[in-house]
Amino acid sequence: MNKYDVIIVGGGAAGMMAASRASTRHKRVLLIERNKRLGTKILITGKGRCNITNDCDIEELLNQTCRNKHFMYSAYYTFSNTSIMEYFKNRGLVLKTERGKRVFPQSDRAADVRNVMRDDLQKNGVIIQYNTMVKSLLITDNQIIGVITESGQELIGTKVVLACGGQSYKLTGSDGYGYVLAKQAGHKIIEPKASLTGVYTKESWTEKAMGVTMKNVKVTATYRNKKLYEEIGEMLFTHFGLSGPLILTASRYFLDTGYDQAKIILDVKPGLSEEKLYKRICRDFDENPKKQYDNALRKLVPANMVIPMIMLTGINGDKQVNQISKEERKKLVDTLKNMTFSITGGRGFKEAIITAGGVSTKEINPSTMESKKVKGLYFAGEMIDVDAFTGGFNLTIAFSTGYLAGEQV
Ligand SMILES: Cc1cc2nc3c(=O)[nH]c(=O)nc-3n(C[C@H](O)[C@H](O)[C@H](O)COP(=O)(O)OP(=O)(O)OC[C@H]3O[C@@H](n4cnc5c(N)ncnc54)[C@H](O)[C@@H]3O)c2cc1C
Repeated sequence: MNKYDVIIVGGGAAGMMAASRASTRHKRVLLIERNKRLGTKILITGKGRCNITNDCDIEELLNQTCRNKHFMYSAYYTFSNTSIMEYFKNRGLVLKTERGKRVFPQSDRAADVRNVMRDDLQKNGVIIQYNTMVKSLLITDNQIIGVITESGQELIGTKVVLACGGQSYKLTGSDGYGYVLAKQAGHKIIEPKASLTGVYTKESWTEKAMGVTMKNVKVTATYRNKKLYEEIGEMLFTHFGLSGPLILTASRYFLDTGYDQAKIILDVKPGLSEEKLYKRICRDFDENPKKQYDNALRKLVPANMVIPMIMLTGINGDKQVNQISKEERKKLVDTLKNMTFSITGGRGFKEAIITAGGVSTKEINPSTMESKKVKGLYFAGEMIDVDAFTGGFNLTIAFSTGYLAGEQV
């Protein structure tokens, strides 16, 4: 009874896709999930809307993959973003594409994505064992023969796929235990790091602007004065520093460089050159010469940014704008165009979107996802040392590697 063709450990995006593919190939598949439901992490993706994939070309998929992109060639070409969209469309999920080619379910409900996958597995006869934690692997003579659960149950299968996720948002079930299992099989783990996070700043004034979202701003990330990243979009001030979409992406660059002289420069008015902005400010001041500086600032920045701006420019809030000198006006322009933050670190795993690092790709066959150390053992998803930027690219990694493993087992 406890014998299966394939045992898949982890019922997240990667594990479910592996189970779907293997069961379509008429394998007797057991999917083991420690939670009482499948795809817990999927439910919180894309702020509950699930950015399933990105409708770009494969070249761009590779560009958006941060580490070990070459490892992903076979997986992306076997089961691409287009295949992912087809998978969901063929099972009745209507999709839509938003800004940046981000693909979402039309319903804006991540639960619909999870449910489509869960129903697919049920239809294909995948046996799902919930509330079960895999504690160790059964290996003899470098061949996998099964797994042992926390309660001591031995489950037998000559093919095992580990799809245990990374170690961010631990409450979703991915707490890094997959790395313990991989190590047991003799695999090297590249240090897991919290990635796509908010960042701490030396400047504590961000607390005063906490909750303020800045839209259409330009964020430039530098390390020792070298530009790492620049993009126009949205960011957010927080009690600890900075967050929001642009900052999450910028944070990934600092993972590789470290934080020594790491800076983020915010351009609040990227559509105007310094000269044009200066002229516009002078014109506005001339139109209402008796207006107080703090009131004039409300036209330039969100209300919660007024006090920080007064502090950063060093101009009194109650000063009439016609009293503001040329030097002070230049300081205002400089503050708006080059608001600089010293970055001291990234937020931890508790709020990291993904884990960078994981099972070394050197020890996994990229064409099959099979371990080079233990026959019959496969890996899929975030637990592998591959990660990507935001935009649907991390789920794409999970689905593509999951499918490839499911195709080979
Ligand atoms: C807040 C947030 C938002 C995100 N939004 C997006 C987005 O919109 N688009 C995008 O592309 N990516 C997004 N991501 C990233 C994406 O969710 C992950 O990269 C992806 O879900 C990884 O899938 P996975 O199957 O590899 O791992 P997981 O989804 O983490 O699944 C692993 C599963 O394995 C189970 N498990 C672990 N160990 C064991 C064990 N020993 N025994 C049994 N079961 C075990 C866990 O319970 C878990 O269910 C987001 C992540 C977060 C945290």
